[in-house]
Amino acid sequence: MKTADIRSAFLDYFRAKDHAIVPSSSLVPVNDPTLLFTNSGMVQFKNVFLGSEKLPHARVADVQRCLRAGGKHNDLDSVGYTARHHTFFEMLGNWSFGDYFKRDAIRYAWELLTGVLKLPSEKLWVTVYHTDNEAFDIWAKEIGVSAERIVRIGDNKGAPYASDNFWQMADTGPCGPCSEIFYDHGPEVAGGPPGSPDEDGDRYIEIWNLVFMQFDRAPDGTLSPLPAPCVDTGMGLERLAAVLQHVHSNYEIDLFQHLIRVASELTQTPDLADKSLRVIADHIRACSFLIVDGVLPSNEGRGYVLRRIIRRALRHGWMLGVRGDFFWKMVQPLVEEMGAAYPDLATKQALVEDALRTEERRFGETLENGMRLFEAVAAKVQKTISGADAFRLYDTYGFPIDLTADIARERGLTVDMDGFDQAMKEQQERSREGGAFEAKGQMPADLASQLAATVFLGYETLSSRASKVVG
Ligand code: ATP
Ligand code: MG
Ligand code: MG
Ligand code: MG
Repeated sequence: MKTADIRSAFLDYFRAKDHAIVPSSSLVPVNDPTLLFTNSGMVQFKNVFLGSEKLPHARVADVQRCLRAGGKHNDLDSVGYTARHHTFFEMLGNWSFGDYFKRDAIRYAWELLTGVLKLPSEKLWVTVYHTDNEAFDIWAKEIGVSAERIVRIGDNKGAPYASDNFWQMADTGPCGPCSEIFYDHGPEVAGGPPGSPDEDGDRYIEIWNLVFMQFDRAPDGTLSPLPAPCVDTGMGLERLAAVLQHVHSNYEIDLFQHLIRVASELTQTPDLADKSLRVIADHIRACSFLIVDGVLPSNEGRGYVLRRIIRRALRHGWMLGVRGDFFWKMVQPLVEEMGAAYPDLATKQALVEDALRTEERRFGETLENGMRLFEAVAAKVQKTISGADAFRLYDTYGFPIDLTADIARERGLTVDMDGFDQAMKEQQERSREGGAFEAKGQMPADLASQLAATVFLGYETLSSRASKVVG
């Protein structure tokens, strides 16, 4: 089943269950300045859950384009390292706004996966929130999932948001337990079942998250039942496609293979499993859709996230030996794959290509010299690249700090982030004293702090998931 057909099959299923099909919203959240990017399907329905907006339909389904490359959700540092994470991905979702609840949400999910799409039920594992006996019983007694494959999961060590299997939009407001469905890709892949110490591997891959919004959390932390409980679900299209196409990695599905083949030709890289090709294929989607949604490369805000992603892709091309521009040429194959589902992508193709080509040529002027400096620095350090060197790469050669950290990671090196922040602060003070408050290459403080969180999370991910790589 091709990825495009899976998209339609999902919508057809929920249409037949009386769901109104709504379009994907933009990657740029429409009226939520607190959020950098749309990172899940529920973003466009936030006000519906909060009660300040009412939709004409109580049942809705869609395919939402999502980006997790900054802010609270950031998977940028996992791209190329796991089989299942992208920056840009499509989330299949169905919602009940005060209509059906746990029982039907679970039944629909199970029927679609095992009845319509014919996944073998013995390869599916489910999790429930540890105290959610209602969901446990539906899975065990009504659906008939064997109890060994139903895992009770608690809170994620007090993490304030989106703790595992308990979801909340914010410190207060609608929240509730989740139930997630995992697919077992088999013993050839490393990783343990959900809830086990090595659950972070790629063997048991989470495909669908069902959120049961049933409480309202008061400022003092107490939970009271919502008058009309809601359902919010999200399933990664690429992960489902991998399962249905009998491949392990998302990057092996039809859609990605097309992009990877083109990248392989453009960069003259024969090995289609090369990590850099995967990163490039991931990043062309993120970058193109950001531009379609009105973001352009810049030194601040969302535009700076876009710039960071483009520059990471270009550096991977450079690593594969490319010395001219190539990245913008990936837009055409992307339009071939996704233009039918996203007509804006096709109509804005020329704009996307122009924006990418311009950025590509601009960074191309400094990338080579920056890499030379990086090599010189890397050759003389044991473990850590100093903040001053990272700052020089940033200030003189336009290397965003996460780019430097990413290259360092490949060499088993780290970057002194505090030192970098210090160097940045000193430069800002110097330019302030000099009276010229110039924004050259600098980020506004709010974005800087969001990105700092981002980089920090990246390191956490790195140490927990890929200590081999870090050395
Ligand atoms: P994971 O634990 O694998 O990082 P998640 O719990 O962060 O996933 P959710 O926030 O529950 O993911 O999102 C709902 C679904 O979206 C997931 O079950 C998964 O199928 C998909 N998904 C999440 N993050 C990504 C990503 N970075 N790339 C591709 N698909 C994703
Ligand atoms: Mg995640
Ligand atoms: Mg998860
Ligand atoms: Mg999840």
